Amino acid sequence: MRFPLTVTDVVEYAFCPKFTYFINILGLEQFEQKRGTVSAGLILHRKHERDNLKYIPKEFTGKKIIAHKFFSTKHGLSGKIDEAIETSNEIVLIERKYSDNHKIYPSLKIQLGLLSVLIEDNLHKPVHKAIVIFSKTKRKEVYVKIDDVIKKDAILMLNNTKQVISNGIMPESNFDNRCLNCCFRKICPVGSLNTTE
Ligand code: SF4
Repeated sequence: MRFPLTVTDVVEYAFCPKFTYFINILGLEQFEQKRGTVSAGLILHRKHERDNLKYIPKEFTGKKIIAHKFFSTKHGLSGKIDEAIETSNEIVLIERKYSDNHKIYPSLKIQLGLLSVLIEDNLHKPVHKAIVIFSKTKRKEVYVKIDDVIKKDAILMLNNTKQVISNGIMPESNFDNRCLNCCFRKICPVGSLNTTE
């Protein structure tokens, strides 16, 4: 098995378990870099890594951490945060999204949970909250409570991802709205049987 897995690997599993099979077992590419929103999101992250070194929401006092990559031997996981604020007694995680859809989807909760676990393993301070900053045409900050349930769900998803990669068996997944724009729908048994193009 490729070691360590990344947070992105697990978020892909959380989006659809078959992604893990297509990407990690069959070695297929997602071609997501061709989608405009992904490119715009990368530009947004690079801009904030370069220009936004001092911004801290006014209710917090602490040290800013930007674009730091963390690694956990215990969990066999690595991941890069957008930003965080290290206060005297906690770390507040900041995740930026280039989107006008301000919903906290389950896959985003998995991402926040795993990044929180990585931060806690490395910096030895608790993560109790994350701020997701959405900015496309409108800017909105959404606060997410990071509790034990989010962290346990994230670790469970990490273990499920590892299991697919180690056994090489295509996992089950059901047809829904995700399939309509999925880059694997033409080769996926579920997507190809339920879409016309
Ligand atoms: S078409 Fe649907 S089931 Fe198949 S990989 Fe894509 S999202 Fe998953």
